[in-house]
Amino acid sequence: MRVLIIDGYTDEPAGLGVPPFIDIYPRYVAGAVWAASPGAEVLYITIDDARRDPDRLRSLSASSDLSVLIAGVTVPGKYLSGAPATHNDAIRIPALLGSRYRAICGPAVRFGFGRGGCSRSVAKDLSALYDFVITGDSEIVVHRLVKENFGEGVDLNSVRESAGSSDAFAERGARVIRQHPFFPDGLVCEIETYRGCPRSVLGGCSFCTEPLHGYPEFRTVRGVAREVAALHSEGAVNFRVGRQPDLLVYGSRDKGLACPAPNPSAIRRLFSSIRRSAPSLRVLHIDNCNPATIAEHPELSEEALKEVVRYHTPGDTAALGIESVDEEVIRRNNLKVDYEGAMRAISLINRVGAARGQNGMPHLLPGLNFVYGLPGETKTTYEANFEFMKEALDSGLLFRRVNLRQVMVMPSTRMESSGDYLVRKHRHLFLSHKLKVRQEIDLPMMKRIVPEFTVLKGVRTELVQGGMTWGRQVGSYPVLVGIPRQLEVGQFIDVLVVSHGPRSVGGLRFPVKINELELRELESIPGVGAKRAASIVLKRPFPSLESFMEKFGGVPEIARMAQFLEF
Ligand code: SF4
Repeated sequence: MRVLIIDGYTDEPAGLGVPPFIDIYPRYVAGAVWAASPGAEVLYITIDDARRDPDRLRSLSASSDLSVLIAGVTVPGKYLSGAPATHNDAIRIPALLGSRYRAICGPAVRFGFGRGGCSRSVAKDLSALYDFVITGDSEIVVHRLVKENFGEGVDLNSVRESAGSSDAFAERGARVIRQHPFFPDGLVCEIETYRGCPRSVLGGCSFCTEPLHGYPEFRTVRGVAREVAALHSEGAVNFRVGRQPDLLVYGSRDKGLACPAPNPSAIRRLFSSIRRSAPSLRVLHIDNCNPATIAEHPELSEEALKEVVRYHTPGDTAALGIESVDEEVIRRNNLKVDYEGAMRAISLINRVGAARGQNGMPHLLPGLNFVYGLPGETKTTYEANFEFMKEALDSGLLFRRVNLRQVMVMPSTRMESSGDYLVRKHRHLFLSHKLKVRQEIDLPMMKRIVPEFTVLKGVRTELVQGGMTWGRQVGSYPVLVGIPRQLEVGQFIDVLVVSHGPRSVGGLRFPVKINELELRELESIPGVGAKRAASIVLKRPFPSLESFMEKFGGVPEIARMAQFLEF
């Protein structure tokens, strides 16, 4: 038995699989194959590699029994290190596959292919191109297909019977990560703790697909820990507990409530077990937290967040789905939190997480998510949301980033009947709002979070473009760093921050070796400029800090940098 997994990457409200992340789909599917056929060979290729090298795709699939394409981006973002599979890929790829059978799975099958700037996602019929269009849980269906030798009786709509049904596949599939191009140091394994949303009892937010999974049922701490141990023993060092809509309610004892109370001891058991299972991990981060949980249960939320901060690694982000603070939009879309509640949630996370960690970043900051194009939206909505961000900024609070997105209308959600009329009508309003937020909120906030001369440790270089190298620390919503010289991709370096943009910072390799800097790097130092940079180059090499300061120490900005220089 030989199975080829083509990872077209996934991005959903609760779960990310675009590099540097590897989502649960390829790992669970690989585990399902190995559980059904222990001697099977499972091959893995990313969609980027498949596009770059179609011959390799052809040859890998040629002697395979099954090729599985995983695809689906339901909350499209901007990606630095990967381009998710599109509808065109899904149409083009089957013709390149020489395997006996072809399958497609992932959110694209249920919800269609989302693209940035496309406000409506339509599920397309792919059954003419694929032998198996898997509408159920991919690992459950693939397990049955392999076990029953691709017989006709397998229900492609089969789903997990309980939250732990796929634990064995999760553990068994760990070794597939070794084939990922970012393995080991650059790869982040997305970890699932549950799916579904407590607010499904109230119908959920109008635009969201998560309530379709019903009320949450949690994986056990033991199930998660065994998976993490398996991943770690294969070489994984970076983890994000990101696959759930609200980490804070993991293990909650409240049943059937729309806003259950956190259970801090469950969070402690979860995180301490992960630490024990992966003793030499480098990154342990989280993702979504429901701001309403924090606003409704401040004490228990604070305790739970303190447990996270006790066991995680710094540079972490709790993404808050605020969506809108306009009361009419909140009412019409059954949103979860209002202006005051969201502000309380941001303050509380600051209280617990704002202290700076050893990698140069604050420990845990809120990320703010807003959604536009929802029913009830008017020009006032944009003003109210902006006023909210401005108040948070002016109160001295920190937030890691603001994510503004236009709603993608998903099949089977309540938004389906409202459509994308307001997204189209307000496109210009949205663009000018975004620009205003970038300049008046993001830029000052970036300067506050990563002040000039902060040393960011362990920045991984990811892309070289136009003489600039772009990199990020590994983890949840890391700051994008631009270094004005060409460096080898895949290296880990420390960076001294010297300039700021709304969405990125500019930096120099730390410690700063003034005798080796390129002209462009010298020019990027505050207060240096083209003329002084040229003069430094002409007078180099400087044998010591003293000799350098003798010539340039009169420039205040350079004097401030002295402690970061190396000769
Ligand atoms: S709270 Fe709203 S946005 Fe969050 S998962 Fe539930 S339904 Fe979706």
